[in-house]
Formats: sequence, structure tokens, C-alpha cells
Amino acid sequence: MTREELEQRVEQVRRELEIAADGRWPVPKLIAVTKTHSAEEILPLKEIGVTEIGENRVQELKTKLPELQGCFGIHLIGRLQRNKVRQIINDVCMIQSVDSIPLAEEIHARALAAEKQMPVLVEVSPAGEEQKGGVPFEETETFLNQIAKLDGIRVRGLMAVMPLTDDEEYLDGLFAKTRELFDRLKERSLNGIGMEELSMGMSGDYRLAAAHGATMVRVGSAIFGPRN
Ligand SMILES: *Cc1c(COP(=O)(O)O)cnc(C)c1O
Repeated sequence: MTREELEQRVEQVRRELEIAADGRWPVPKLIAVTKTHSAEEILPLKEIGVTEIGENRVQELKTKLPELQGCFGIHLIGRLQRNKVRQIINDVCMIQSVDSIPLAEEIHARALAAEKQMPVLVEVSPAGEEQKGGVPFEETETFLNQIAKLDGIRVRGLMAVMPLTDDEEYLDGLFAKTRELFDRLKERSLNGIGMEELSMGMSGDYRLAAAHGATMVRVGSAIFGPRN
């Protein structure tokens, strides 16, 4: 893909986000999901004003890191194994997929050892698809209270992955429900917990997400084209 095409696609996504947010919400921040793409493909994003990228695999991120470091804020957006936390604690600006106490504790411990505090999002499970991970809605407040005292992490909000479906009405309901959970938790002002970021929406549904007040969308294939 040429740099012009890339720029057009990014601009298109940005325009659509603005239209969908419709002045009701701030326009969500675009996290360009760069998994499966080489550093060479990713670097031009910087020239078109994309400042943050998302990767979901530690191994892949580590291979690309020498070329990407310092160019982007990097968000870890996928399932993260505890034994890999140490490898990325100094490389990422946010871990978006915290959904278990042991994982939260590991990030906390590794961050403290690195003398830092890691911003994280708690991944919730809007459709209750257990195999995909994510904390069930009704357990989220308890979960937040359990990790609030871990001072190596700083909870900044929630992240959600919607199910793969063409059913717009169903998705619309899930986005609405997730936004409600976010608002309710924000209102609770839990001690030691920040509720500023709501990361939801991918290539198929970022317009709906923006219409429901996502603060970040994670968009890959709408920018780079389909992955094989
Ligand atoms: C791959 C991925 C995305 C982006 O998916 P696209 O459909 O390519 O936009 C977003 N979030 C997570 C957690 C992902 O793994």
C-alpha cells in the first residue's frame, strides 16, 4: 500500500469517527492495530499523525520493537500470559487486557521492580463469552476493588471486545450496556481507580462504538486491509 492510500484510509476512519461521535462525545482516539504488519509498513503512520499503535503478541512486538521504539505509544491489547509481562514492562504505554487478579499482581510487581507505574484497562466481557476472557459485568466492581491497592498499576478504565456478528442491533445493545457499566463505575469513584478511558470498537464496529462514547477505538484491517 502506498503512503497516500494509507493516509486516505486513516483520514476516512477519522472522519467517520467524528461523524459518529456527533458532537455528543469527544472523538475517540485512534489506536492503529499493527499486528501482523512489519515495522516498514507501520512507520509511515507516524508521518500521518498516528501516535499510538496496538499489538497483541509479545513475541511479535519484541521483534519489531527495535525499529518502532520511540515512534509510537504501544498498547498491549491481546491476551497476556503472566510469564511474558517482564518482557514488555518497559516497552508499552498501556496494557489493555487485564482480566485476572494474578495478571494484575504480576504487572504490579514487574512495574515496581522497574520503578514505574503501568497504566492498565480492565477487560470486561459484554457478551459473556467466557472463552474470550474478560471480567463479567456483575463482577467488575469487586474486581476493581481487589486490584485498587496494587500501586504498580494505575487503572485508567475499561476495555471490551465485542463478539463477531453482523447483527447491528445486538451490537448496539452491547455497546450501550458497556457504556452504562463504565458510567456507573465512574460515578462510584472507587478509591484508587480511574475511569477515564473506554476502549471499544474495531474495524467492523468503530462507528457504533463512537456513537456510544468510546474514548479509544482499536482499528487494524480498516487501515491496513484484511489480514491473511
Ligand atoms: C486485532 C484486534 C483488533 C483490531 O481488529 P480489526 O478488526 O483488524 O480492526 C482490536 N482489538 C483487539 C483486542 C485485537 O486483537
